Amino acid sequence: MSLESKRRYGSVHLWLLALLVATACGPGVPSREPSAAEPGAAESDTTAPGATEAGPRVFTGARLIVGDGAVIENATFVVQGDIITAVGRAGELDVPAGATVVDLTGRTVMPALVNTHAHLGWEKYTSWGSENFTRDNLIDHLNRHAYYGVGTIISTGSDREEIALQVRREQRIGEVGGARYLVSPGIGTPGGGPNPRFTDDEGFWGIHHVTTPSEARDIVRSEAAKGIRIVKIWVDARDQRRGAQVKLRPEIYAAVLDEAQVRDVLVIAHALTLEDQKQLLRAGNRRFIHMPYDRDVDEEYLALVRERNAFIVPTLGMVTKREPYYIPAFQDPFFQEQVSSEVIELLTDAYGDGPRGPSVRTPAAVERSRVIADNFEALKDHIILGTDAGAVGDFFGYADHVELALFVRMGMTPAEAIVAATGRSARAFGLIDVGTLEAGMSADFIVLDANPLDDIENTRRISQVYLRGDRVDRDALRERWTR
Ligand SMILES: [Zn+2]
Repeated sequence: MSLESKRRYGSVHLWLLALLVATACGPGVPSREPSAAEPGAAESDTTAPGATEAGPRVFTGARLIVGDGAVIENATFVVQGDIITAVGRAGELDVPAGATVVDLTGRTVMPALVNTHAHLGWEKYTSWGSENFTRDNLIDHLNRHAYYGVGTIISTGSDREEIALQVRREQRIGEVGGARYLVSPGIGTPGGGPNPRFTDDEGFWGIHHVTTPSEARDIVRSEAAKGIRIVKIWVDARDQRRGAQVKLRPEIYAAVLDEAQVRDVLVIAHALTLEDQKQLLRAGNRRFIHMPYDRDVDEEYLALVRERNAFIVPTLGMVTKREPYYIPAFQDPFFQEQVSSEVIELLTDAYGDGPRGPSVRTPAAVERSRVIADNFEALKDHIILGTDAGAVGDFFGYADHVELALFVRMGMTPAEAIVAATGRSARAFGLIDVGTLEAGMSADFIVLDANPLDDIENTRRISQVYLRGDRVDRDALRERWTR
């Protein structure tokens, strides 16, 4: 590994320390050894990501988790091209003549995950920085998500738009595979944008800075004109070293929200405090990155959340790194299986044992853990999936499974956690063709060797991933990445 990459990962550690907050505890995080022989489906093709499979296929015998809370035992579903055309119980469906039958008896099928908050492009596993934001690296990150069964990824506030929009276009015409890529450019005050790890980077291209409501409207209009459907705002002033440390003012975000509604643009707001989230809710904001971590939510807040039908990305993976049960990715075989030994070495050097364990659990940290756990439980029906992967030492696709397990640790049933990470996450962003497995939806699903409704850790027991009807060639990807 290079000194440069050590330096970059070394700086991660500091920011990790600065950003860490702690939460409550629960059972441990087991992991899975990479299986030597994936049993796979009866199908024998080795379709590369993005390739097209011909002819209708009928998948039989699996337990089907729909993604809206329903479960069909011994299900049959039909895939034609990239679409699910029928779903039902065995024997209930008319099966198209000449269809290829894929026997999934004993397996569980669930929708591909929908991750609403990550930062693509900067991570390269051996270094981190703006110089990594290339077309190839972006595609690699879409494939990393696909490998782990993430079908849709929203990258929030750190993408170089020109490259991002090019890759998105290529994906739409089938030239690029991997997880479906949605881009959410950022709007904020100078100093009120992404965490300083981004803004310290010499090549950082900036967010859309706004200081007046009319500037904010202009940005939303011009982003909408580019085909952008989601924008992110930061209501935060965490970068304490930088000039005007002011939060985005309510009249500015009100202008963003108003203009966004007119342009059919959705807004997701980064906000960490209860008061900021209340004000944003009153202004009409419905999507939040982070829960209130500063104090217990109250009835007024919960009433606003219910009234607005708000969606909240708790990023538990990011805020539980000091918990006694935390296992760093590089120590987990489920992560290790898709990176080289160089990457594991590098991460071990950079993160070491990490700032965790009882010695760093001050009373304030314990109290913060309690607040996060209690707030999560109070907001359970509004929680959606987002990992913040690619920003602060969380890794694409892998982090999604960590987050699912944390949802359960904090009080969801496995069934509830899966709905939050699939159907509800899609609904939060108006994604009408992903998130559930029903007729008319994109054929984005994970075939599992064990039932995640029994144990959420079974989402790691991946046999196959299908996106847009194509089987992701996980073996080929793993081979490429572990070389
Ligand atoms: Zn983020």
